[in-house]
Amino acid sequence: MPPDYHMHTPLCRHAEGEPTEYAAQAVKLGLTEIGFTEHAPLPEDDFDNWRMLESEMDIYHEKLDQAEKENPEINILRSLEVDYLPDYTEWIKSLGKRYEWDYLIGSVHYLGDKWSFDHPDHRDSWNGKDLNSVWSQYYIRLIESVKIGIFNIVGHCDLIKVFGHRPDCDLASLWMPFLEEVKRQDIAIEINTGGINKPCGEMYPEPALLEMAANMEIGLTFGSDAHKPERVGENFVEAVALAKRSGFSRYRRFSGGEFESVPF
Ligand SMILES: [Zn+2]
Ligand SMILES: [Zn+2]
Repeated sequence: MPPDYHMHTPLCRHAEGEPTEYAAQAVKLGLTEIGFTEHAPLPEDDFDNWRMLESEMDIYHEKLDQAEKENPEINILRSLEVDYLPDYTEWIKSLGKRYEWDYLIGSVHYLGDKWSFDHPDHRDSWNGKDLNSVWSQYYIRLIESVKIGIFNIVGHCDLIKVFGHRPDCDLASLWMPFLEEVKRQDIAIEINTGGINKPCGEMYPEPALLEMAANMEIGLTFGSDAHKPERVGENFVEAVALAKRSGFSRYRRFSGGEFESVPF
């Protein structure tokens, strides 16, 4: 089973369970490696209320130290799920330098002027939106996030489908320029099984996008996006089957910012 490279901690204020409990669950499932990717701080502590604060970065490492100490059977990687916001590139670079992260996930959760499009409390904010325009803005921003050259993995690369809103345009025309940039930067996309528990009811990204990515020999990782210990490694058997069906024969493992490609 590939490692689970997308997991949160209570520091983000919307997850439960200590990292050591996530690690214990992973051991129980037979995983040999996991990576924690807490929602990274932004320079303004009050930007929103669903991320770790800058002042909590040391506590984050202490919690991961504890998880390591109490679960010696498993390799624990250190990472962040960093929000890509166009005006924060310098901040993102500085976060990347603060620690020798094993990898960094770059995610787009905000569009336009701070529209938190996937927030479950803001579902109404989709009312009246032009879906073709929203999807195209999402992929434009995702491409920008890849271009800054800091991230190793693109988080849930069709999160924009979270509530099931789909445009009628040709999706391949949105995905192709995005995947070309991912290929150019030689970074990975992830199969994020967390989507199954969301209104869209399926993993991110959808099979057709995965097939395109496999054809282009783009790197792949797996993540549960667990916000509670029971969700660690959830639906990984199905996710690996989906990856193979889509044409992937390898996944990436990270250490200290470098990757190796491992066959299934
Ligand atoms: Zn979260
Ligand atoms: Zn995310």
